[in-house]
Formats: sequence, structure tokens, C-alpha cells
Amino acid sequence: MHVDAKCPIRFGEPCSLCVPGAHGPQDCQLVALVREDPDLAELRAEMIARKKAEKAQSAG
Ligand code: SF4
Repeated sequence: MHVDAKCPIRFGEPCSLCVPGAHGPQDCQLVALVREDPDLAELRAEMIARKKAEKAQSAG
């Protein structure tokens, strides 16, 4: 089961409700954690940059 929303953590992928108790990104504990923690936010930014680079490579 998944909701019609993108996961802010796993860039480009839909939310699969992988966090117990979450009904979507809006009440996902992991999303809240990453938003609050600067270190995790940095990791997330790196991950997104990497995914974007991968996409750009496979497209070109
Ligand atoms: S539950 Fe949270 S971490 Fe899991 S896919 Fe949805 S938004 Fe992403």
C-alpha cells in the first residue's frame, strides 16, 4: 500500500508508508527527524544531488 505522495527522503519515489504509524509524508516520523536535524538534512541534500546526477547521466 502506498499513498499518492512523494517521499521527501527517498527522492523521486512515492511514499510507501515504510515508517510504522505514518499515513504519508505529513506525519512521517523520519521526515520530521530529517527536517529537524541539520546533519541528516545535509545527508538528504547529498543523496538528492547524487540521484539527480545519476538521472542526468542516464538521460544523456
Ligand atoms: S513513510 Fe516516510 S520515509 Fe517512508 S516512504 Fe513515506 S515519507 Fe518516506
